[in-house]
Amino acid sequence: MPIGEIVSFEPATGAELWRGKVGDVDESVARARRAWPAWAAQPHSTRIELMRRFANEVRKEADKLATLIARETGKPMWEARGEVEGVVARVEIAVRAYADRTSQRKHDNGLSGTASVRHKPHGVLAVLGPYNMPADLPCGHIVPALIAGNVVVFKPSEKAPASGEMLARCFHRAGVSAAALQVLIGGPAHGQALVAHDGIDGVLFTGSFPVGRRILEANLDRPGRMIALEMGGSNAAIVWKDADLRRAVIECVRGAYATTGQRCTCTRRIIVHADIAERFITAFTKVASSLVVGAGSDPEPLFMGPVVSCAAADAVIERQAALARAGGRVLLESARFDRAGWFVGPGLVEVPRFECASDCETFGPLAQVSVVNDLPGAIAQANASDFGLVASVFTNDETTWTACFDAIRVGCLNRNTGTAGASSRLPFGGLGRSGNLRPAGSFAVDLAAYPLASMQDGAAETAVPSGMRLDSLPIR
Ligand code: NAD
Repeated sequence: MPIGEIVSFEPATGAELWRGKVGDVDESVARARRAWPAWAAQPHSTRIELMRRFANEVRKEADKLATLIARETGKPMWEARGEVEGVVARVEIAVRAYADRTSQRKHDNGLSGTASVRHKPHGVLAVLGPYNMPADLPCGHIVPALIAGNVVVFKPSEKAPASGEMLARCFHRAGVSAAALQVLIGGPAHGQALVAHDGIDGVLFTGSFPVGRRILEANLDRPGRMIALEMGGSNAAIVWKDADLRRAVIECVRGAYATTGQRCTCTRRIIVHADIAERFITAFTKVASSLVVGAGSDPEPLFMGPVVSCAAADAVIERQAALARAGGRVLLESARFDRAGWFVGPGLVEVPRFECASDCETFGPLAQVSVVNDLPGAIAQANASDFGLVASVFTNDETTWTACFDAIRVGCLNRNTGTAGASSRLPFGGLGRSGNLRPAGSFAVDLAAYPLASMQDGAAETAVPSGMRLDSLPIR
């Protein structure tokens, strides 16, 4: 790749899709700083109107944007269309959430005083996006940030820069200036320079734990800087003996392999009760091995496409081999396809138990299963991860559900539905290495503005504190 350019490749063919010049971090931040006062000074209603116009621009470009996302990430068209619908929906959700969570609140303070809380924007926010949902996830941060009065420097993933650039164009066509929402094309070095820049006031990051860790490291001397980290997961699904087996199989297969296993919410670890293990595993492998895998240009219906890069495909195969070397039994082998592009099929490995020490996130279509006999053992295995994003429990028994609800440590806990997917109407985020408890979803507005506490004295006379003598005060 020539120095100074980023090239994006189509995962389904390996062919070049897009190339663009990398941006200048210092210039982008300086331009954003200059743009901030005017953006923040606009009436709140103007910023909301601009976001609604943005939603309309996305509606107009829906087919083009979905096609680009599908080609650049490798996901099927139906899924890319769903992502674009998600972008549009985010606007009204953010408008409502902002109103709900930050409306001005006044309280009486003493006889004639008031105490109030108002929300203020941070200033210049850096938004760093991942490649797997290159439009929807950055929007989950950009839209609330702009509504609240911040300006944004958005660095899309170097694996999906074209989608990020097109998204930014929709904001600009809607009337958001190119200074208030800047798109910074670049790779990890650009991200690194941006998050450590003195000219920014906060970071909204969605990506992997190792990168999130480096962002924290780069900001150790800035405890006041808002650093919101949405990171990975090693999500567990417990399938209990009373579960609706058909439902559990469909949802676990969907959870494990949706977006070719490239969602932070994908099911990585399945914990199944011994009484139903054989039936569950047989049905799971049957359904998983019949999933339709193909390129966006292949005839519909498709379940999933290729992974994003050759390195991502290799990582799946290597992790499967490592699990086998450590005593795992490969029940369904994840293998490369004999065709151009980075296609890799679904895999399932049975392991004796899940342990924190050997847990990691492999971002691809590889799941593990472990068989248990008792609920405390199942819960212990579900918690045997340093991540804590999502878990699912398949049971119709209230006592089983309550025990799981009380003891499983995650940010999102689902019942009788899979781990993959989330509602933008709910908060979203995880514990441990999944994030720093600053959820995305509808609570993202909490990151976009900080509460300012204000007290005001409305009494005609200032109360004189006990022990203060005013006899010699020259003013009345
Ligand atoms: P990534 O961490 O490799 O990259 C994310 C962004 O960070 C990119 O824009 C990248 O250029 C930038 N970056 C890389 N190095 C950097 C550095 N040192 N400093 C600052 N920025 C840097 O992630 P990815 O491969 O694009 O996406 C997959 C990961 O994202 C998975 O771990 C997945 O679980 C996670 N993810 C999390 C969520 C969530 O909401 N929790 C959602 C989607 C994806």
